Amino acid sequence: MSDIKKPGLKLGFGLMRLPKLEDGSINVEDFKVMVDKFLEAGGTYFDTAYVYPGSEEATKKALVERHPRESYTLASKLAVFADSVKDEASAKQEIYTSLERTGAGYFDFYLLHAIQRGNYQTYEDYHLWDYVKELKAKGLIKHYGFSFHGDPELLEELLTRHPDAEFVQLQVNYADWENPGVQARRNWEICQKHGKPIVVMEPVKGGILADPVAPVKALFDAENTGMSYPSWAVRFVASKEGLLVVLSGMSSIGQMEDNLSYMKDFKPLSEHEEEVIAKAQEAFNSVKKIPCTGCSYCTKGCPMGIPIPDIFTVENRKEGSPEFRTRREYVIVTQDKGKASDCLQCGQCESVCPQHLPIIELLEKCRWMEA
Ligand code: SF4
Ligand code: SF4
Repeated sequence: MSDIKKPGLKLGFGLMRLPKLEDGSINVEDFKVMVDKFLEAGGTYFDTAYVYPGSEEATKKALVERHPRESYTLASKLAVFADSVKDEASAKQEIYTSLERTGAGYFDFYLLHAIQRGNYQTYEDYHLWDYVKELKAKGLIKHYGFSFHGDPELLEELLTRHPDAEFVQLQVNYADWENPGVQARRNWEICQKHGKPIVVMEPVKGGILADPVAPVKALFDAENTGMSYPSWAVRFVASKEGLLVVLSGMSSIGQMEDNLSYMKDFKPLSEHEEEVIAKAQEAFNSVKKIPCTGCSYCTKGCPMGIPIPDIFTVENRKEGSPEFRTRREYVIVTQDKGKASDCLQCGQCESVCPQHLPIIELLEKCRWMEA
């Protein structure tokens, strides 16, 4: 079993979707307030990555330069799909850039990022599993693991081949628990079988469960608890056995306050609340929406510059909205960019999508907004 120390709170601060200013840059002043509130409440776990634009630099300003290094733990990640990676050497360079950007001196947690069928062999070919061991021996990282977006069979294979991995980061939320495209429950069980602590990402499914479909809202509203929709999602995960920490990608001071309101003195879901969630899972599955989390991994390499997640957001919001409004939103998000109909069907986007979405087919279905 791993010697990883449990963090102060079961809630971790995911640094992928930081607050933004109007010009699109990170709002460092709000980020500072959020960092302070999180630490004051007893939180310790922060999670950034080499490929989160501006996140590591902002973390330096809001966290590293303002708080004693031993008062928090910081995770970052090495991605073979980063733009800068051309070969093994450039992949191995990432940690040095991450250390320079953050000024953190070392990472408490270091992950091979977003492993799935389409990329796991590259992590092997570049000898990155050995590399993280070397980094640990050098004292540049304290613990290594990997974040995972693949199927249970691949997870089993990885944990068998690399039994020294100290923890696993999984996408888990109530909507994906039994989702055949994610298989969160089976992946969870495999990690437990191998004795690996689990870090959870996307507990609110990229924001989808913060504003869930109407039948799910109705179920939670009927409970009359005064608790937010995200609280149901985060507490569902935090109640699971084997969890190390659940990351919430908080984008505003309000979201931080809401998360802390139920995670500071965390109480697991009651039996009745578990039943409500079970009904919410059924209700979620009965309404078809595109389960895109907005991570944007697909857009970087799109030769036509198609704003794929933005198009899916517009499509998902069409329910209850007049058609002309949906079309107008579509025109706005695709202005000066590629349209759904420009897709060349090259498949680049599908090869990197952590949600394994059939993007080409889905874009076909979104073309009605252009007519
Ligand atoms: S398949 Fe279409 S949307 Fe995907 S990367 Fe290629 S052109 Fe872009
Ligand atoms: S389509 Fe897939 S890769 Fe693209 S933003 Fe959505 S979840 Fe991410």
